[in-house]
Amino acid sequence: MKMQEYIDEAEKALLHTYNRYQVVLEKGDGVYLYDMEGKKYLDFVSGIAVFALGYNNKEYNDALKAQIDNVIHTSNYYYNIPAIEAAKKLKEVSGMDRVFFTNSGAEAIEGAIKAARKYAYLKDGTTDHEIIAMNHSFHGRTMGALSVTGNPHYREAFEPMIGNIRFADLNDFDSVLANVNDKTCAILLETVQGEGGLYPAEEEFLQKVRKLCDEKDILLILDEIQCGMGRTGYMYAWQKFGVKPDIMTTAKALGCGVPVGAFLMTEKVAQNSLVAGDHGTTYGGNPLACAAICKVLELFEKEKVLDNVKEVSAYLEEQLDKLVDEFDFIETRRGAGLMQGLVCNKPVGEIINKALENGLILINAGPNIIRFVPALVITKENVDEMISILRKSLV
Ligand SMILES: *Cc1c(COP(=O)(O)O)cnc(C)c1O
Repeated sequence: MKMQEYIDEAEKALLHTYNRYQVVLEKGDGVYLYDMEGKKYLDFVSGIAVFALGYNNKEYNDALKAQIDNVIHTSNYYYNIPAIEAAKKLKEVSGMDRVFFTNSGAEAIEGAIKAARKYAYLKDGTTDHEIIAMNHSFHGRTMGALSVTGNPHYREAFEPMIGNIRFADLNDFDSVLANVNDKTCAILLETVQGEGGLYPAEEEFLQKVRKLCDEKDILLILDEIQCGMGRTGYMYAWQKFGVKPDIMTTAKALGCGVPVGAFLMTEKVAQNSLVAGDHGTTYGGNPLACAAICKVLELFEKEKVLDNVKEVSAYLEEQLDKLVDEFDFIETRRGAGLMQGLVCNKPVGEIINKALENGLILINAGPNIIRFVPALVITKENVDEMISILRKSLV
């Protein structure tokens, strides 16, 4: 079948929840993707901040193939070696104490919410605890994750949400304070907001929130699903500020393409929240997913991914800033590390389509922002190539 025929088939069979770009991607290699007609694309999306190591990494592929020949799945009623190794490594790189593996980011958020509610329930026996989340946040599409997502447009048709959620503004400590009361059990935020517009949390704000949480025994939950796993040049974005969460979520680049996430917590929360029977998942942390995590974390170290992010992101920022100076309709650049956005004063859909035509894959964050979340192994030459194609596409 030809590419257009496949697209027509897809539109007949798949639920229409995405307006997809008119291309069937077939192969990936390094930072390039190829469609089924052989056209080559420089990829600055990496499957939405997922493929940190680039496509077709031989060591990663070999590790998965070896695990497939051993065992793919066993269920969580038994121990398996990849899950034990992955949990150990994840503890080391995060500084957190305990791990629960999930199948997705949204599911990690669900677990984090349950842990926080259980923690508060065990303290006072009541069941009307509140969570403060942020406006413009994005935490996923399941009902719990949607309930804490600060974008009414995503929520409206699916009301009622889970109850007792309040929304404050990121980097506005007073707005957080105004929402705190005796029922507050957790404050949830993305250390760098992704979908909501590439807004990094400021150090002073994080420190004040941390202090408030300590004083009132409120749990700080940091969603590191997009900004974690090295994207900002730190394994987890909060590590730059030393503001440690009580519960943290991670996913996206964690398995570099194998669907897996996790929520992690401190020993104190672990000892005072979820116990046997409280939470579970059939697939979560199965041997295949965990073999991926182990290899990803090993390769991050071996390929000095964090150093590369620090170096190349500084260069990317410089080059994007030049575009801000040059083009009137680009208002500013915002983000952290290899998680950047060009904020425009008009919708960017046409630019992204034009870039695709010109062999560059980009994505938006909201209607007016072009987002850059490439593989973490990109080079300065890749940045130059991207800028040159983007320049041709700025219509
Ligand atoms: C993508 C994302 C999620 C949801 O992850 P899924 O794997 O799509 O369920 C949650 N939080 C943030 C910050 C994200 O970027």
